[in-house]
Amino acid sequence: RSHKRVVDCRSDIDRMNAPLLAIYESLVPKEEEKSNQKQLLTSLEKLVNKEWPTAQLYLYGSCANSFGVSKSDIDVCLALEDPDINKSEVLLKLADILQADNLENVQALTRARVPIVKLMDPVTGISCDICINNVLAVVNTKLLHDYAQIDDRLRQLAFIVKHWAKLRGVNVTYQGTLSSYAYVLMCIHFLQQRKPAILPCLQGMEATYVVTVDDIECAYFDQVQHLRDFGARNKERIAELVWAFFDYWAYRHDYANSVISVRTGSLISKRAKDWTRRIGNDRHLICIEDPFEISHDLGRVVDKYSIKTLREEFERAANIMHYDPDPCVTLFEPY
Ligand code: ATP
Ligand code: MG
Repeated sequence: RSHKRVVDCRSDIDRMNAPLLAIYESLVPKEEEKSNQKQLLTSLEKLVNKEWPTAQLYLYGSCANSFGVSKSDIDVCLALEDPDINKSEVLLKLADILQADNLENVQALTRARVPIVKLMDPVTGISCDICINNVLAVVNTKLLHDYAQIDDRLRQLAFIVKHWAKLRGVNVTYQGTLSSYAYVLMCIHFLQQRKPAILPCLQGMEATYVVTVDDIECAYFDQVQHLRDFGARNKERIAELVWAFFDYWAYRHDYANSVISVRTGSLISKRAKDWTRRIGNDRHLICIEDPFEISHDLGRVVDKYSIKTLREEFERAANIMHYDPDPCVTLFEPY
């Protein structure tokens, strides 16, 4: 009997694999979209350098970390050398400059947790958020980008998980669910933990890239072109991984005691981080350690109501992958 079950599983996997890959392919941005983004960045650079000649613009977030689906907004960081600038003043000045250049929907959000200027380019239709001196986000963008180069299955898994989270309404941080960044870290951690491992722990290897940002040393092995066959001994395909990912977060993760940590490539205990009780607004109901800002729990937005929503969604997804005859439709049904 157990042999028959294994055979059934295999044929389920075979049946689900191609449709999942097709969903992934349909979400990947086309070359034209990428070149439009670059063009917009170049014209923004020209505008910015008229006012701040030594300033640099960096793309970060999903347009630069390889996890951006088609038609995403782009995230831009304006890096100014002067450390004593007043961010609000700079943002208001920047908003004036952009407005004068016919960019649309220009809006300075100076009181947000990460203050930004929003804009829309009427030529390409691309929306863009510009923040100031958020260099750590540029560095964690590079880390995610480097992980994505090691094994194609990371990008496939993360696209599918992000797509699911958006359609199921659990990718809304102001409603207490998780950011895209948190979901990608969950995927990396998951692939580090597979047996055999599909991803290495880059921060646990000899550092070939070292920068210090806001007093935080960011160091890891970034020569990832040498790791292209790291996961070759693991033959799991995307359907098995999506299945196991949801199964892990539905039924296996120890929410009471464990923190997932891409930095160490393993689970660490909540006790070791002193994340066992609520402090201020940080409830630590699901714990995802930021790889560089290690006192930062990306699960801190989750509250006692949204943790229930999240866990129910993980269970729903796991059950669909397990029992549904046509999981690729049901899994992504809009909430
Ligand atoms: P999407 O495709 O949904 O826009 P994204 O990867 O751009 O996904 P965002 O949530 O828009 O994700 O975040 C943009 C970037 O900002 C992230 O890639 C990350 O570098 C940084 N970031 C976002 N949230 C945090 C956070 N809580 N702590 C640290 N950095 C963060
Ligand atoms: Mg983004």
